[in-house]
Amino acid sequence: MTDLTTRLVHHAYQPPEGFQAVPPPVHKASTVIFPNVAALRSRQWKRRDTYTYGLHGTPTTLILEERIATLEGAQHCVLVPSGLAAISLVGMAVLTSGDEVLIPDNAYGPNKAFAEAQLKAWGVHVVYYDPMNPQDLAARLTPRSRLVWLEAAGSITLEFPDLPALLRVLRSYGSAHRQGLVAALDNTWGAGIAFRPFELGIDISVHALTKYPSGGADVLMGAVLTCDPQMHDRLMDTHARVGFGVGANDVELVLRGLPSMGLRYAAHDAATRELALWMQSQPQVERVLHPALPGSPGFEAWRRDCTAAACLFSVVFKPHFSPDQIDGFCDALRLFKLGYSWAGPISLCAPYDVSKLRTLDGPHPRALVRFSVGLESVSDLRQDLAQALARL
Ligand SMILES: *Cc1c(COP(=O)(O)O)cnc(C)c1O
Repeated sequence: MTDLTTRLVHHAYQPPEGFQAVPPPVHKASTVIFPNVAALRSRQWKRRDTYTYGLHGTPTTLILEERIATLEGAQHCVLVPSGLAAISLVGMAVLTSGDEVLIPDNAYGPNKAFAEAQLKAWGVHVVYYDPMNPQDLAARLTPRSRLVWLEAAGSITLEFPDLPALLRVLRSYGSAHRQGLVAALDNTWGAGIAFRPFELGIDISVHALTKYPSGGADVLMGAVLTCDPQMHDRLMDTHARVGFGVGANDVELVLRGLPSMGLRYAAHDAATRELALWMQSQPQVERVLHPALPGSPGFEAWRRDCTAAACLFSVVFKPHFSPDQIDGFCDALRLFKLGYSWAGPISLCAPYDVSKLRTLDGPHPRALVRFSVGLESVSDLRQDLAQALARL
């Protein structure tokens, strides 16, 4: 069909007769009325063509689920209240006591925290692997391994893994040991735009809609996607038991953000590459981490598998700068605000001691600043970086 950008605008939706408006309606309900007792008794809340209770889906949530599935190239989607809820839903649906989950050492921090605090308490073994070395993953798989997380690019340090090679390791171990291994990708960075995750052979994708699909920095939401109907069924069972419903007004905000997402992704991408390149040429800077910069870890895999890059880059400063000086640099920035999240209109930054985030041995930079580039003018952002660098 047409380009993804077009499909995000022209999406199948039939408005009511005589009301040919483009935006879908915002339906709100906890209760959904059944016509009679027989209909109430035969309710099937997992079926997407009938409604049973607001928590399990409304016409409005179904429209967003369809659109996010279109975006990612998946068959099924379930919405949850945050990107982190999408991660925890996968863990709760797939894992049981005695299983092992493998997580890349550079994964999104709260994914590791959920595994450490909750999954371990429920009897799940938690193992970290080096995502830049498929042999390291191969060496850590055991007969107990059940769920393997992938993330591209990695959190904070933005290494881009060789996803096909990691998936080959999983498939060959799985078929040799007749073991069902589930590959789940945190696809918030690629967002369905930088690469096509299901064409690479993953089983599950999770997406923090808080970031690009919303684009407004004003809503939290997540999605869990799959092409496998049985997996979707399992995810829906867990979803209903834990009660991860989403609010109609939040869904409306994400629906509003989606048509401009392709344009925003491209604008963030271009501005980020320009600023990352400029930072790399500054004398205070040791290196810039951005998957589309030659020499950055995973650049070759990014170039082979991706057509775009998200709005993040990280800067490692020359080693003679103390962490306090780097904090001072962040405090001196005016347009780049201090805060978490990304892909909203406002540029953000935060300093990190990477050695505190990683479980496997380093070397890891002790002082690094991660930037999220917003939608301000690039020359204003460059000037802001220049004035803060001058104070270093
Ligand atoms: C932000 C983020 C999440 C979590 O999303 P929230 O909606 O903030 O819970 C998960 N994974 C990645 C890679 C993220 O950047």
